[in-house]
Amino acid sequence: MSHDPDVLVVGGGATGIGTARDLALRGVDVLLVDRGGLCSGTSGRSHGLLHSGARYAEADAEGARECIEENRTLRRIAGACVAETGGLFVSLADDDDEYFERKRAACEEIGIPAEPVDPDTARESVPNLADGTERVMRVPDGVVYPSRLIAANALDAEAHGATIRPHTPVESMTVDDGRVTEVRVGGEMAETLAPEYVVNAAGAWAGQVAAMAGLDVDMQPTRGVMVSVEYDGLGPVLNRCRDPDDGDIVVPHGSEAVLGTTSVPVNDPDDYEQARWEVERSVEECAAMLPPVADAPVVREWWGVRPLYAPDEAERGGRGISRGFFQLDHAADGVENAVSVVGGKLTTYRLMAASTADLVCDRLGVDADCSTADRELVAADDPERLDAAVAEFDGQGPTDADVVGESD
Ligand SMILES: Cc1cc2nc3c(=O)[nH]c(=O)nc-3n(C[C@H](O)[C@H](O)[C@H](O)COP(=O)(O)OP(=O)(O)OC[C@H]3O[C@@H](n4cnc5c(N)ncnc54)[C@H](O)[C@@H]3O)c2cc1C
Repeated sequence: MSHDPDVLVVGGGATGIGTARDLALRGVDVLLVDRGGLCSGTSGRSHGLLHSGARYAEADAEGARECIEENRTLRRIAGACVAETGGLFVSLADDDDEYFERKRAACEEIGIPAEPVDPDTARESVPNLADGTERVMRVPDGVVYPSRLIAANALDAEAHGATIRPHTPVESMTVDDGRVTEVRVGGEMAETLAPEYVVNAAGAWAGQVAAMAGLDVDMQPTRGVMVSVEYDGLGPVLNRCRDPDDGDIVVPHGSEAVLGTTSVPVNDPDDYEQARWEVERSVEECAAMLPPVADAPVVREWWGVRPLYAPDEAERGGRGISRGFFQLDHAADGVENAVSVVGGKLTTYRLMAASTADLVCDRLGVDADCSTADRELVAADDPERLDAAVAEFDGQGPTDADVVGESD
């Protein structure tokens, strides 16, 4: 790196790369670093559901509104980074009819298309839907391929002058007179930088990165498991229509179906138990909606950790349903040139990035609006180019390991 960047973004997951793209499009000089390959954190280890917002509709109208808006935006700009599969909410015999009705009404209120269909009609697209299916609602859920999405954002950021450096961990920061003055990066760069502003987008690791600047970002990560099984041609995403619980979602992937997930607090996002009961419960609960997956051969299993903000988790008392994002402007903590952005969802990464870039531009005195919702991502309709970029940025996560590269 021959010069110090205006903005250093720490973390090459969806939040960080989305922020780098947004800032670059506004003409800001940005360097993004990740300790591993791009997408090596939670973004590449998620379930890969492009939420319609229906899952959150009755409990968190604002979160649901953000999801449907971003769902529509990504279907417009992200080409082969998403698949428009549609989704079904499935209510089984023991599930609460009133809950189904509340969700349907909430979707209508928010503007999420949610059309009740009778189970036999639903079986035209999902013939193996459980016999005990009582009510079904069709929603515009989809599938997101995070490795491609992140690579496409990285290409666009680079095309607008950003520098993207995987395998470059932030190792320490110096704070002097209320500012981060130096950041030591190791790995493939091994340099000390003096950025004007630092964006901490390190997800579940944001507390560790903030601590390097003497800041307190209290994270409460929770782990979850995904189990991919052989299942050819599942059309839509399947969601269990009940209060969020383990094993509620089946995501279609060509010849596989991805079952999940669980939510168990962990102390260390790099070192946590991977409990067998979570795998078994995820399979069992998903099989309640789609019985053949109970005996289907397992292709892959992977785990991820949600980057949840502890004060919000404490307020909601455990699993809860809302996964809002938090932008922590550290000027309020006495460090004027740093922000941490945590929480949220893969689906809403662009929104988180836009909000963060607004703050950074305000602080740097840059007068430029966000344009990321209106521009198609670079190479969005060229899966081969996207998959080559995934390899270039060492950005392959397990979520879409069966999809990326298939276009070759
Ligand atoms: C089990 C599970 C299922 C999920 N399913 C869905 C879903 O279906 N749909 C959905 O919308 N959302 C889902 N999510 C949520 C979503 O995946 C996350 O909210 C989102 O991906 C977080 O992105 P991020 O960029 O903030 O964090 P990350 O992707 O974790 O990025 C943070 C990055 O920071 C890097 N980093 C850490 N420390 C340093 C350092 N010192 N120096 C440099 N870099 C560093 C890490 O390597 C990492 O790449 C799921 C989450 C989990 C855990």
